[in-house]
Amino acid sequence: MKNDHPVLLCVRDMSMRYGKTQVLNQIDLDIHKGEVVVVIGPSGSGKSTLVRCLNGLENPFEGTIQLNGAPYDARNHEQWSQLRNQIGMVFQDYSLFPHLNVLKNMTLAPVLREKYTEDEAERIALELLERVQLRHKASSMPAQLSGGQQQRVAIVRALAMCPEIMLFDEPTSALDPEIVGEVLAVMKELVSQGMTMIVVTHEMSFAREVADKVVFMDKGEILEAASPERLFDYPQHERVKNFLGKIL
Ligand code: ADP
Ligand code: MG
Repeated sequence: MKNDHPVLLCVRDMSMRYGKTQVLNQIDLDIHKGEVVVVIGPSGSGKSTLVRCLNGLENPFEGTIQLNGAPYDARNHEQWSQLRNQIGMVFQDYSLFPHLNVLKNMTLAPVLREKYTEDEAERIALELLERVQLRHKASSMPAQLSGGQQQRVAIVRALAMCPEIMLFDEPTSALDPEIVGEVLAVMKELVSQGMTMIVVTHEMSFAREVADKVVFMDKGEILEAASPERLFDYPQHERVKNFLGKIL
């Protein structure tokens, strides 16, 4: 069981508001090393805000995050960049830099953040592109790639920083149905290599196949968290039953 593994990411009492709107309300979450956590819930329930907070993209929030036991304070720039360096993020809309080719998209952060030299970063980027069968696209511009190819680039771009944990925010929602599989396949390969992942997705077969835990969010709170078998087949809350009834 992966919940015997050490806790990699520990979230306590995390709250966040936009103006008067409470978007996250006292979230507690432990992610163990190698665990795959799938986050589901209705639109507007705070899923994106949660992963953006975990990646240091939303400030300020209340509560604490610890990565590998080290506290993270958003106001401390040193700690902030440490967090950013160890957490990879993949967005629904790929978010590739449109004016940079695939290779430059991948080497920019590792070089700027002084993780690797230009040469090392290039070598790592080309190896990663090979792994997702896109080595031949290294000098292409993002707009020349299909959505599925762009998302595979976005995934390996995040991996190029050698993160401890990968966050995915609806990575397949913008893709044509026949292309979703090629992106899920890359994600499943990452799972098989032991990557720790938090995935916001409504791909229930993916969740059933690879998730260790499914978390259901509603109105900024975690309403239920359980194994996929338990959560999908025996949901405890009416709210979860209703939601699953609509999407399954
Ligand atoms: P989800 O990803 O589950 O659909 P979000 O985290 O995107 O939910 O949004 C949660 C709530 O926060 C929603 O009510 C949304 O309208 C609000 N929200 C999200 N981003 C902003 C923002 N930049 N400014 C104000 N409100 C926001
Ligand atoms: Mg969202």
